[in-house]
Amino acid sequence: MCDGALAVQSEGQGAPPPYTDVTALPAGWRWRIPLQHRYGNGYVYSSRHVSDEVARQTLVGAIDERLLHEPRTIRFKPGRRLKAWNKNCIALGLAAGFLEPLESTSIALIETGIDKIKQLFPDRSFSPVVIDEFNDMSRREMERVRDFVILHYKANRRTDTDFWRQCREMSVPDTLQRKLDLFQARGHFVRYRWEMFQPASWLAIYAGFDLMPQSCDPSVEGLDTASLAGALAEMRKAVAGAVEAAPTHADFIEHNARPIAMAAQ
Ligand SMILES: Cc1cc2nc3c(=O)[nH]c(=O)nc-3n(C[C@H](O)[C@H](O)[C@H](O)COP(=O)(O)OP(=O)(O)OC[C@H]3O[C@@H](n4cnc5c(N)ncnc54)[C@H](O)[C@@H]3O)c2cc1C
Repeated sequence: MCDGALAVQSEGQGAPPPYTDVTALPAGWRWRIPLQHRYGNGYVYSSRHVSDEVARQTLVGAIDERLLHEPRTIRFKPGRRLKAWNKNCIALGLAAGFLEPLESTSIALIETGIDKIKQLFPDRSFSPVVIDEFNDMSRREMERVRDFVILHYKANRRTDTDFWRQCREMSVPDTLQRKLDLFQARGHFVRYRWEMFQPASWLAIYAGFDLMPQSCDPSVEGLDTASLAGALAEMRKAVAGAVEAAPTHADFIEHNARPIAMAAQ
């Protein structure tokens, strides 16, 4: 659905939060990325549902700090190269394809791409079967990311704009529909080859949108609920303890991530 983005930097203010903020907007979503000295902000939107000017006003209106420049407009067509590897040339990163950054997958796809090159490193013959395997793996991985990103739109509950209504009503790839059907039927997580996102990530989106299963897998019916509740309580305690002991994000950057030249200033 989305085919455009506006990006603008704003002044850094106070301690940076340790996460990127993503907020749904009338025709897409907004990102807010804390960097060491500034914020990166943007609005990814569907140009069929909002004009560039209205999108610009919405984005600028949502930013409290001083802008460091005028918002830049970017048009994109999501997709991938049919052959990431062709003859003796391999495309990685943006050269291989682009999916909107809702789940920040670009760098991970570059890393897994490098791993695939290592696994299938060619000899001088550049065997077509090796190249086909690389292209098949790359296609599957990108399609699995695509499905996960589409889920965020498909599962939305908003009724306030045509954009969100149409996202909910759109048809989705069979591979995603199958996952949705099996999860809703009995809480089953389908895992295809080359899935980047683990069941915990899928659950976060299903549960976040209140897409709960109608029944459960029969294998869990015999579980002792008291010991399960005990294990979950222990887990909650361990997570709370780790959060309590963690330094603030600003402290962590100060001690571990400041470039040497800047630390010396
Ligand atoms: C603020 C910010 C935050 C981001 N956060 C994340 C994140 O959390 N997770 C994530 O996965 N991604 C994130 N991204 C996106 C990610 O950084 C990019 O997708 C990734 O860097 C793309 O890498 P690339 O090597 O494909 O392309 P690039 O990094 O764009 O590299 C292309 C290189 O090619 C050079 N070049 C271009 N044309 C030519 C030419 N004709 N001849 C020679 N050289 C040329 C360019 O100068 C550049 O150095 C973020 C991006 C930004 C801006």
